[in-house]
Amino acid sequence: MSEKVMIVGSGPAAWTAAIYTARAQLQPLVIEGAMTAENQANGTLPMGQLSLTTEVENYPGFPFGDLEAYLAGSLDQSRLAMLPPHNKEGISGPELVELMRQQAVHFGTRTLMQDVVDVDFSQRPFSLAASDGQTYQAETVIIATGARANYLGLESENRFKNKGVSACAVCDGALPRFRDKNVVVVGGGDSAVEEATYLAKFARKVFLVHRRNELRASKIMAKRAMENEKIEILWNRVPIEVLGDDQAGVTGVLLQSTVGETELRLEAAGMFPAIGHTPNTAFLKGKLELTATGYIARPVPFRCNTSVEGVFAAGDVADDYYRQAVTAAASGCMAALDAERYLAGQE
Ligand code: NAP
Repeated sequence: MSEKVMIVGSGPAAWTAAIYTARAQLQPLVIEGAMTAENQANGTLPMGQLSLTTEVENYPGFPFGDLEAYLAGSLDQSRLAMLPPHNKEGISGPELVELMRQQAVHFGTRTLMQDVVDVDFSQRPFSLAASDGQTYQAETVIIATGARANYLGLESENRFKNKGVSACAVCDGALPRFRDKNVVVVGGGDSAVEEATYLAKFARKVFLVHRRNELRASKIMAKRAMENEKIEILWNRVPIEVLGDDQAGVTGVLLQSTVGETELRLEAAGMFPAIGHTPNTAFLKGKLELTATGYIARPVPFRCNTSVEGVFAAGDVADDYYRQAVTAAASGCMAALDAERYLAGQE
């Protein structure tokens, strides 16, 4: 049996596409990703990057305030129990994406916790091979697999992953390993500032290490970091080695100057790279046109079409520019409408 619409991914783009296609009576099937150790190590667990962030202050409709009662009345107890405690200040990333999922399921979306490992877009219906060994067929496909955090690529960084090196402060920052210790965040964008601000709640001191002398982060977030007494920004520096041993894990970070100054050795229990993202498109190589940096190419301006008719792309997997939850959700809506119109045209 062929599905009308299959959606691959489980972030804001995927759930919005599901809400729209479900309401259009297309009975979408969402392949939301698998809960595997490999996905955890790669930063590609289900529910996407939004589930790795803290407070979401810029998603319209979720203002500052205590939304706890709303959450309690909206989510299944089993899913509610998996969320971090509500911060009473506004919606958190994990809460927001759970609500999106719930909204999609409410309208009849079916979900499958598997990874898509291969696709065949050369004939219709399209085929998608999942990690459970099953092959699924679909008349139209929306890809919304997002992007994942980058690492610096140092050998020592790899050695200390999960022993003090983490690309997710929100997941790991509260661990005893980091409490009242120094930690290092690398990068100068919104993610780096957000991670540094979050870590400052637990750590003794946060060194924000940036390779230039100016932050890329938005003004409001940069100001917050600069005004936080626990955050010290180290300009014009990059890590060249993560220091430590097998027993203690990370004990420090060696920094090189990008402007010819001497090396600097920091004592720290952790390093959090926050240096940008890579799109999750490995399973699409050779099947769809990708850009030079691996994002899905969308050849038609203001549409979610890909190089294959009937396959659409939404969210960060096709966006290296805006990369916001709200823009991902908007493009999920657009992809759903594109898919709906494509199917109507086929009839
Ligand atoms: P980003 O804006 O691309 O910033 C990446 C940072 O890492 C840059 O400062 C870059 O330095 C640095 N970097 C890259 N490669 C490096 C390397 N090899 N060594 C050292 N430093 C390196 O990425 P992002 O911060 O993840 O943000 C991505 C998008 O998500 C943005 O649109 C951002 O606004 C959004 N976002 C929003 C929020 C929020 O609003 N709450 C939170 C997080 C992210 P250069 O500056 O020198 O290039």
